[in-house]
Amino acid sequence: MQYGAIETGGTKTVMAIFDETGKILRHTTIPTKNPDETLPEMIAFFGGEKIASLGICSFGPLDLNRGSKTYGNITSTPKPGWQDAPLLRRLRDELHVPMGIDTDVNGAALAEMAFGATNPMNVFLYVTVGTGIGGGVIVHGEALKGMSHISFGHMVLSPHGKDPVPRGFCPFHEGCLEGLASGPAITKRWQMSAERIPQNHLAWEIEAFYLAQMCANSVLMFSPEKICIGGGVMQRDFLFPMIRKETVRRLGGYVRSPSILNEIDSYIIPPTLGPESGIKGAFLLAKKAIV
Ligand code: ADP
Ligand code: ZN
Repeated sequence: MQYGAIETGGTKTVMAIFDETGKILRHTTIPTKNPDETLPEMIAFFGGEKIASLGICSFGPLDLNRGSKTYGNITSTPKPGWQDAPLLRRLRDELHVPMGIDTDVNGAALAEMAFGATNPMNVFLYVTVGTGIGGGVIVHGEALKGMSHISFGHMVLSPHGKDPVPRGFCPFHEGCLEGLASGPAITKRWQMSAERIPQNHLAWEIEAFYLAQMCANSVLMFSPEKICIGGGVMQRDFLFPMIRKETVRRLGGYVRSPSILNEIDSYIIPPTLGPESGIKGAFLLAKKAIV
C-alpha cells in the first residue's frame, strides 16, 4: 500500500509517496505560490499515483473543527492569497481518498514522538522556534485540539527586566511568546540578524528567559513527559542549558517529578529528526485516516 503526504509551508511545499513502512518512494518540492497555482500542482502530483490515503501538514492557522463547514481551510494567515483558502476541500474534490489534516507543528510533533529517539509517552510537547513559534501537545497519540488547534506560540509572558522591547513584535498581542522570542523578533529587537548575535550577548539571556517561561508554563498546564524544542533559533545549542536552569528556577521546587529535579538534561531536549519531521508527520496522518 502507498500513502500520499503533503507538507505545505510559507515558502515551500513538499509532496511525497510513502510505502507502508514509512520509506519515501518519490518526492518533490515546489515553491508555495498562490492557491490557484499551488493546489493544481498538488493535485497533479498525486493524481497519477495509487495512494490509499493522503496526509496534509500545513502552515496555519487552519480550521480544524470537524463540525465546521470550512474544516480544513486556511484561516487568518497574512500569506497573500491563502486567507480562507479551502485547502482540504480542493484536494478532496479531486483526489477521492481518505484524508487527514493538521498543522505543520502538530505533524512534526507526531513524527518526533513516533520516529524520534523518545519512547511513546502519554503527553509530549514539541515546540519550534523559527520564523514563528508553534507548539504541538500530543496527548495519548493525538494532537490536542478543541474549538480548533491550539495557538501555543501566542501565550503571553512576563517581560524580562532588561528587554528593550518588552511589548514584542506580534501584530495581535502585547508580550506574546512568538512576538518576543521568534527569530524575526530577536533580529528586530537587536537590529542584527539572529544568526550573527554572539553567544555572550544579552539577547540570549533574554531568549532563554522567555523560552524557560514557556517550558515552566507548559509543565504546569500539560505535565508533558518530555519537552522537545527545535527550529532555526535552537541551532544555538548553548541555549539548552540556559533554558533548563531557568525552567527549574521558575518552577521553584513546586513540581517534584524526578524529570524536573534530577533529569532536566534529558527532559528539555533537541529534536532527533531534522527537516523531514513535517513530511513524516503527514505520512502518519495519512495512515491514521484509514484506521
Ligand atoms: P521556518 O520557521 O521558516 O520553518 P527555521 O526553523 O529555520 O524556519 O527558522 C528560521 C528563523 O530562525 C529565522 O528567523 C532565523 O533568523 C533563525 N535562525 C536560523 N538559524 C539561526 C542561528 N544559527 N542562530 C539564531 N537564529 C537562527
Ligand atoms: Zn501573538
